[in-house]
Amino acid sequence: MKKHLTLLGSTGSIGESTLDVVARHPDRFAVYALTAHRNGEKLVAQCLRFQPEVAVVGDADTAARVETQLRAAGCATQVAYGPQALVEVAKSAQCDTVVAAIVGAAGLAPTLAAAMAGKRILLANKEALVMSGAIFMDAARDHGATLLPVDSEHNAIFQCLPREEALHGGVTKIILTASGGPFRTREPATLVNVTPDEACKHPNWVMGRKISVDSATMMNKGLEVIEAHWLFSLPGERIEVLIHPQSVIHSLVSYADGSVLAQLGNPDMRTPIAHALAFPDRVESGVAQLDLADIAQLSFEKPDYARFPCLALAMQALAAGGIASAALNAANEVAVDAFLARRIGFMDIAQTVDAVLNALPNRRPSGLDDVLEADAAARRAAHDYIAAHARAPHVANGTGQLDR
Ligand code: NAD
Ligand code: MG
Repeated sequence: MKKHLTLLGSTGSIGESTLDVVARHPDRFAVYALTAHRNGEKLVAQCLRFQPEVAVVGDADTAARVETQLRAAGCATQVAYGPQALVEVAKSAQCDTVVAAIVGAAGLAPTLAAAMAGKRILLANKEALVMSGAIFMDAARDHGATLLPVDSEHNAIFQCLPREEALHGGVTKIILTASGGPFRTREPATLVNVTPDEACKHPNWVMGRKISVDSATMMNKGLEVIEAHWLFSLPGERIEVLIHPQSVIHSLVSYADGSVLAQLGNPDMRTPIAHALAFPDRVESGVAQLDLADIAQLSFEKPDYARFPCLALAMQALAAGGIASAALNAANEVAVDAFLARRIGFMDIAQTVDAVLNALPNRRPSGLDDVLEADAAARRAAHDYIAAHARAPHVANGTGQLDR
């Protein structure tokens, strides 16, 4: 039966890769809704090609522009805007599958709405799960939603785990691979001076700017450890991080009998996306077959926590529980924004997150409101920290670091 998709964040890197796979299988997938934030141009082009029922954008001005262009081109797609419209298309009875590919905390409300509507959710938006962990997983279980991981590591683990939950007892640990990002071998003392463009130049993957910076600090791997903890209900001690610079092995699962299963492939998000879209079938994704003889060598090393303090901070937040992961995520989003806007230096990202985690008292969230309050408090604390420590001359020329 044809799947009807709502694609949250269709103009992003994951969104575009998803549409690339969808376009290869018009017999299997139809697009019900596409959503973008401000990139109206790209959204219009996508609407003309995929003819969704609904398109959602961030604000009224963008909506008006998009609507004018669509009508001029003879396209009947309805245009809506704002956070509530995202929730509506995520839970609409006209879609069965929701691809959660908005970046950051903005994706939480619609993704949670999809869970509460019992949808099949293809989860790329790891920040939503990091923020709301137990609440999100409980909502998915209580409403019969199906979660299919799109994040390449989690998709790899999903592929290597036994299909039946009851057999998970034989799993000893999961091993998340990490490329180590663009600064794995760079002299640590020079990291204070790296620019946003250098940080966004990932050696193996082409991704949005926020996740690219997260990969450079390795906060991304930290968020992924937390994501794995919730998706696969394993304690942090049984989730390991392994540096694997070639990004060919996407992750591994260790079993009690000494077996280790791994999923391999070329680093292209269309593989995990196609897997999740068609599951349990397998469909062509446009990704070239892996040629191991050509790659010749795969290498591995332990992560360096001194070089990547964000990874350690995420592990600490997971161990602390409560609202710590939500605070970590929020502080990181503010710090990454500030870094991309050249208001703080690269190493100040970890410094800001650390300061916010120390400043906010931890507590157990009783519901979504509590999580959103923690998110808001952490954002305020991060802005305050950055404002209090920024040194004006460096801010002005965009090369400086925070004053410690
Ligand atoms: P991106 O920046 O390329 O795209 C983000 C999308 O979200 C865009 O469509 C944008 O319009 C939309 N968006 C941004 N802010 C919004 C807001 N406030 N409200 C509504 N929509 C908003 O990001 P990406 O690289 O595609 O990543 C998307 C998500 O997938 C992230 O959570 C990321 O961690 C995760 N992910 C990405 C990759 C990858 O290879 N790019 C891999 C694994 C996981
Ligand atoms: Mg990943």
